[in-house]
Amino acid sequence: MQMRCYRCGWSFALRKDEIAFALRALEESGGNHYDAHCPRCKHANPVSIEQLRRAAPRPPTPPAPAPPEGEEPT
Ligand SMILES: [Zn+2]
Repeated sequence: MQMRCYRCGWSFALRKDEIAFALRALEESGGNHYDAHCPRCKHANPVSIEQLRRAAPRPPTPPAPAPPEGEEPT
């Protein structure tokens, strides 16, 4: 997930494992944003839990089951 620092304007990427870790920590603590630290100036940039969910490799809820497939006529 691509981020831009609010303070210095530096662009940096949040890794998928960092996103997944942040989401889990927020869900456990009941928080609504994660502080992504800029690698350049160390400023904490708030990322909302919604943004994290959209960027996460997997949604926190299981996917809907696939509809049953019709059997092929023999
Ligand atoms: Zn910065």
